[in-house]
Amino acid sequence: MKFYHDEDADLALLEDRTIAILGYGHQGRAQALNMRDSGVGQVVVGNIQDEYRDQAVEDGFPVVTPGEAAQRADVILLLLPDEVAPLVYGEEVADTLREGKALVFASGYNLTYGHIQPPDLVDVIMIAPRMLGQGMRELFLKGAGFVSFVSIEQDASGQARPLALALAKAIGSTRAGVMELSAAQETHLDLFMEQAFGPLLGAAITTAYQVGVEAGFPPEALVLELYMSGEMAYVFKAMGELGLMKQARLHSLTSQFGGMIRSLALNREEIERNMREALDDILSGAFAHEWEEERKAGYPSFTFMREMSDEEHPLTGVEGRLRKQLRMKWGDVA
Ligand code: NDP
Repeated sequence: MKFYHDEDADLALLEDRTIAILGYGHQGRAQALNMRDSGVGQVVVGNIQDEYRDQAVEDGFPVVTPGEAAQRADVILLLLPDEVAPLVYGEEVADTLREGKALVFASGYNLTYGHIQPPDLVDVIMIAPRMLGQGMRELFLKGAGFVSFVSIEQDASGQARPLALALAKAIGSTRAGVMELSAAQETHLDLFMEQAFGPLLGAAITTAYQVGVEAGFPPEALVLELYMSGEMAYVFKAMGELGLMKQARLHSLTSQFGGMIRSLALNREEIERNMREALDDILSGAFAHEWEEERKAGYPSFTFMREMSDEEHPLTGVEGRLRKQLRMKWGDVA
């Protein structure tokens, strides 16, 4: 397992290069600001006319169209939504690629499923942060780092690895450490977590809520216990710092005993079956195909599911009431 840190990367490699940030969203803004604060001078943003563009202008970057930014740049960071990137790449980026240029992805998705197939003459790099854009910026400003997976998918120049590490340093990731992982593995792992672990966590929360309400617990008390008090987030933090098993020692003996016996009694076969099904569809490309069909159809199922979860779920109302009641300072994420 190869990890790289600050001392393995040289920011001087970026001195004479123009870096294009295509897409000024969650990742684009965080990466552009962190790079500039790391001393990278020539950052140009490529964005369509929208509020993200206004934000980039307000932040003091030169902003042009994605095609123009790609044309000017030596290093092109595709920080667009994965389902949009192939269109922008095909229409505005592909024709600007020349020998000596590098194309950088923040996720392996489009490379893995062949939606973008860069020509042989450019370096192809993946730097996939394991952190939300906002978190990347906050950590950077605190002097801390965040982990990224890095991959050299094509080394046309023979210098793709040092370039990738310099970029990872510029966004603040080598402060924590970057790990080599292929784009395919990053993609499969990312989707696996989103589709095998995420739904279980969501189902555990909503089912506990439903059973608890039926048993007569006040909905507000349930939601506080489940996540809104912040205790659960603290437990996850402790898992990272102490270890999954060791953090249990922070809880009462009653809590540890009850948790362990119920955990051992869980029927895991169904859980395992669901996880394997999700993984099969990820590895075969069936999920990517389904998602692409959904995009082409104008996102009907996605929109329906999102509206259902936003509007209809009783949790949403309880959260709103709690937000009004609690004298806590909110707004770190919103
Ligand atoms: P966002 O949705 O936050 O931002 C995307 C940007 O692309 C916005 O500026 C958006 O503007 C612009 N955009 C959208 N559609 C088009 C279009 N048709 N033409 C031109 N520009 C367009 O994306 P993320 O930052 O979340 O994701 C970027 C990449 O980073 C992805 O590969 C993702 O997998 C990866 N990633 C994301 C993480 C995260 O924290 N979200 C974490 C790690 C990796 P507008 O919407 O106004 O059109």
